[in-house]
Amino acid sequence: MNRLDETVGLLGELIAFPTVSSESNLELIMWISDMLGRLGAQTRISTDESGTKANLFATLGPEGDGGIVLSGHSDVVPVEDQDWTSDPFEMREEDGRLYGRGACDMKGFIAATLAIAPDFAAAELKRPLHFAFTYDEEVGCLGAQELVKELKRDGIRPSVAIIGEPTSMRIIEGHKGCCEYTTEFTGAEGHGSRPSAGVNAVEYAVRYATRLMELSDALRDRAPAQTRFDPPWTTLQIGRLSGGVAHNVIPGQCQLDWEMRPVHWDDADFVKSEIDRYAADVLVPAMRAVSPDADIRRLTIGEVTGLLPTAPNEARAIVSELTGSDAADLVAFGTEAGLFQEIGMSCVVCGPGSIMQAHKPDEYVERSQLAACIGMLEGLCARLSG
Ligand SMILES: [Zn+2]
Repeated sequence: MNRLDETVGLLGELIAFPTVSSESNLELIMWISDMLGRLGAQTRISTDESGTKANLFATLGPEGDGGIVLSGHSDVVPVEDQDWTSDPFEMREEDGRLYGRGACDMKGFIAATLAIAPDFAAAELKRPLHFAFTYDEEVGCLGAQELVKELKRDGIRPSVAIIGEPTSMRIIEGHKGCCEYTTEFTGAEGHGSRPSAGVNAVEYAVRYATRLMELSDALRDRAPAQTRFDPPWTTLQIGRLSGGVAHNVIPGQCQLDWEMRPVHWDDADFVKSEIDRYAADVLVPAMRAVSPDADIRRLTIGEVTGLLPTAPNEARAIVSELTGSDAADLVAFGTEAGLFQEIGMSCVVCGPGSIMQAHKPDEYVERSQLAACIGMLEGLCARLSG
């Protein structure tokens, strides 16, 4: 069987593990780990606190620094309330398209790496080749955050990462981060005729939101001098403000959902420290002067670091050579790349399938995209052994 047919077969098996982020990914990780282990890879599995989610980090070739990481997340987004033509966890092929949950995001890439793994195992690799398969990317890159800590702790220092998120095999060298927060305001209810006897949670939320909008303006002045991001600064926006009961009732609860897309992690730290200080020094004391139980709590829903374009960029140079394309773009969606970059690695995002199909019903990847990915990986194998 050729590598493309093998990739398609492996993709069908990967899709059959329903690794929605809310569920365990252990079976899938064990399955891949056994496969790579049989090829002689050094494998390490680390689980989260619950013991139901795992990362796999596997190495072929020599030990030591300077390896290349092929990175993919094992989880997929849910299928509920989506109108699928057939069972999302049973792969179906039609007109050169392979349908199934995770087909493009991003089990197609994982399948291609596994299909080429025997070639990497048989080659005389001059540098380590690592496979990094993580959990819970779709809910805040939780697995990758643990993985990079572990690599750092254990002194494992790969130098390049190729993150195989669906980019239609284009090279992506940068994306903004994505941070989501919910701030909860607890006031004290009362009759609308005596506002000073209660603590109006909505009014405090509005003050908090106003301060956020001031910080949003300040972020424009902090835009890096040279950047291709559009817009070039960190954006901040309020997505939802919910609270209140009726015209004449002082609302005791309010909730504010807001997000930031940082170009620099410093910006996220700046906004968080400023808004937390404003809440702690100004708003909460005023609320507690009326009701000691009043409070403001900011919850982090998810924080994903961005990927900053750098020059020179070894990952970009390697993948350019392998794909024959000099161009590198920036995208709006987040990936695990920024986390690898934070521990000193050079990273690009490049993988089969289109982001337009990701997270949708009847998600698919085209055979031709998998073939292009296999071509890249075969080239990488030749390069690492040459
Ligand atoms: Zn993805």
